[in-house]
Amino acid sequence: MFDYLIVGAGFAGSVLAERLAAGSDKKVLICDKRSHIGGNAYDHYNEAGILVHKYGPHIFHTNSREVFEYLSRFTQWRPYQHRVRASVDGQIVPIPINLDTINSLYGLSLTSFEVEDFFKKVAEPCAQIRTSEDVVVSKVGRELYEKFFRNYTRKQWGLDPSELDASVTSRVPTRTNRDDRYFTDTYQSMPLHGYTRMFERMLDHPNIKVLLNCDYRDVEKDIPFREMIYTGPVDTYFDFCYGKLPYRSLEFKHETHDQSAFQSAPVVNYPNEQSYTRVTEFKYLTGQEHPRTSIVYEFPKAEGDPYYPVPRKENSAIYAKYKALVDGTRGVTFVGRLATYKYYNMDQIVAQALTTYGKIAGMKRLEATLHNNGNGNGNGHKPESDPVAFSGLAMTAATH
Ligand SMILES: Cc1cc2nc3c(=O)[nH]c(=O)nc-3n(C[C@H](O)[C@H](O)[C@H](O)COP(=O)(O)OP(=O)(O)OC[C@H]3O[C@@H](n4cnc5c(N)ncnc54)[C@H](O)[C@@H]3O)c2cc1C
Repeated sequence: MFDYLIVGAGFAGSVLAERLAAGSDKKVLICDKRSHIGGNAYDHYNEAGILVHKYGPHIFHTNSREVFEYLSRFTQWRPYQHRVRASVDGQIVPIPINLDTINSLYGLSLTSFEVEDFFKKVAEPCAQIRTSEDVVVSKVGRELYEKFFRNYTRKQWGLDPSELDASVTSRVPTRTNRDDRYFTDTYQSMPLHGYTRMFERMLDHPNIKVLLNCDYRDVEKDIPFREMIYTGPVDTYFDFCYGKLPYRSLEFKHETHDQSAFQSAPVVNYPNEQSYTRVTEFKYLTGQEHPRTSIVYEFPKAEGDPYYPVPRKENSAIYAKYKALVDGTRGVTFVGRLATYKYYNMDQIVAQALTTYGKIAGMKRLEATLHNNGNGNGNGHKPESDPVAFSGLAMTAATH
């Protein structure tokens, strides 16, 4: 008898498996319908011996010391500051837009103070910021919006920015200095030996059994377990009873080239002419030295594996109905990006899973206390404070 059947071996499922097994001595079966652990963060050495991310580039960054320290139990790190360029008007320029972007694009030599005035001049005032278009146009004006954001967003989401919640672009900063880092978080590193190695170490515990190539529906009737943790899509769990929640998917085209470098930056965005959104060259991310190089193109599409919940009001309304079912479902805990239908970064998912574990562990202790007292009122006993209960990170949406 397993204490928990965990569906999905991505960050949400694996962190919970590790915590329940190592922190609460629970017997855990974790299954994934894919042939590997790690969920979308899975990486592997390709046929050329180059470490690549199967489901597109995954850059770890966080402001949470707790999350960083927790993951540091399972990996060493390689310091890495991510940088992105955009191919616009025949030039390769920094994105997020900064002083160098404006100077290169318009052949100017403005200072930081002058570029501030430039942005003020081009920005279009907007009484109420509702959509992604409002966010960008009110910051950098319509021309830069058209060059960098409009078509990129249309490709990425299949929708015009005016149809998408403000949250999609609200975290894209504009800088008046020359800082060209993509993220400014306190902790920015990549797992030294890759994500999959980190997951292997997380799941390497005598209380954890891993079952791959296995849809939970094929085994849930045959394998005895007390409770389930579900990290797959919430609409699938409830047999689409309120309809399909829209997700955006991607097709990844991986290539290896007989040259040591392919492009001038880890990621180059292609907002306009091409049908792909960006190209990633993995050796920048991993620091691997190799005479050849591997890259991946991303082609957004509507059908396929669910990657990005689509942030629109009508979709939130459908999710709210599923959430009511979630709240009424006993014995199953829904955790993770697909189960909560929200774009979360890896660190946010780790925080969400640790918070969930804190709740489970605290609740179990309370139940045990009540049980041992032989009465139902608790007699003033409180659950012990949990060593890994988190307040959670700010759950904001991002573009990638
Ligand atoms: C292209 C792309 C780039 C990203 N880049 C970054 C980045 O740079 N930085 C960052 O912080 N975050 C990034 N993310 C987000 C990151 O991937 C997620 O935060 C993280 O993977 C979420 O973990 P999860 O466990 O919730 O979901 P997942 O990793 O999706 O894991 C869920 C697992 O459940 C399994 N599953 C589903 N249904 C079933 C079933 N019926 N039976 C068995 N198994 C099932 C799936 O196969 C999957 O492996 C990116 C995401 C994408 C798509």
